[in-house]
Amino acid sequence: MTDGPLAVGVDIGGTKVAAGVVDAGGAVLRRTRRDTPHRSTSPRVVEDTIVSAVEELLGHGDEIVGVGIGAAGFVAADRATVVFAPHLSWRNEPLRAALGERLDLPIFVDNDANAAAWAEHRFGAGRGESHLVMVNLGTGIGGGIVLDGRVLRGRFGIAGEFGHMQVVPDGIRCECGNRGCWEQYASGNALVREARSLMSAGSPVVSDLFERVGGDPGELTGPLVTEAARDGDPLARELLGEIGRWLGVGIADLAAALDPGTFVIGGGVSAAGDLLLEPARAAFRRQLTGRGYRPEATIVQAQLGNEAGLVGAADLARVGAADLAWAEAGDRAERGGSTPAG
Ligand SMILES: [Zn+2]
Repeated sequence: MTDGPLAVGVDIGGTKVAAGVVDAGGAVLRRTRRDTPHRSTSPRVVEDTIVSAVEELLGHGDEIVGVGIGAAGFVAADRATVVFAPHLSWRNEPLRAALGERLDLPIFVDNDANAAAWAEHRFGAGRGESHLVMVNLGTGIGGGIVLDGRVLRGRFGIAGEFGHMQVVPDGIRCECGNRGCWEQYASGNALVREARSLMSAGSPVVSDLFERVGGDPGELTGPLVTEAARDGDPLARELLGEIGRWLGVGIADLAAALDPGTFVIGGGVSAAGDLLLEPARAAFRRQLTGRGYRPEATIVQAQLGNEAGLVGAADLARVGAADLAWAEAGDRAERGGSTPAG
């Protein structure tokens, strides 16, 4: 049993392009993948990759109402143009027009983190929550905002880039050129950097992590630290606790600005669950403006994992296509003198 109407979602990441047919209940009915073309290749090659993935999914006789694209990068608020994508050769790329010429379907382009936040709002950890902020802890920090049941994209489409909020004046240098950015303290990269620096300093307390990587700090990864923490390694737990505390500090700032009911924490580091989230909740409560005199947002782990971007992009396309159909019916009614049905 599928829950119609169906839409295609495409998640364009740094290494993989993942696409799937998604029903109105958020279930992925079919999926396919391609390698992301190298960033030096022309926009046309990336389009070819997207078109080939979507065409593969369309060849099954389903009725598809639209295609949603979730791309890592800045997407203009018109949901047509990718302003800048760090992993691709897109600079002010008119992606909707380019794909619309080749795929005879309505196309909707969004930032991948916006799409993921929407998926968690509709089908995941934030189901039923009208005001939600998603914070993705990967190599950096990305985010998406759903307020009053709508994605908040901002005037220029660039809302939700939380990773470069300054949390420490004159803090650690960030690749963005500033210092003390949140993602230098609360991301997967920060976790690995701290663990490596302890190892390189020859600290006697790192023996468990040391064994896991055969004595080579360069082999250390975020998932290895999480695994060690789950197995009870006190140092790995302390490192995750430190990341969690910084997470809570930044979240308190976001609560002051946006006042959501739920923060959904996603990305690789979130797999640590309460080892990360309990310290985050404690720091959040300590830092929150007006604590004790206001309702407090809950902080929960994301539920949809790697497919959140794909599912959210598809669902945003499904909603967008319905809005388009409604507007067209309204136009026809205006010309013909009757009212649109529904
Ligand atoms: Zn930065």
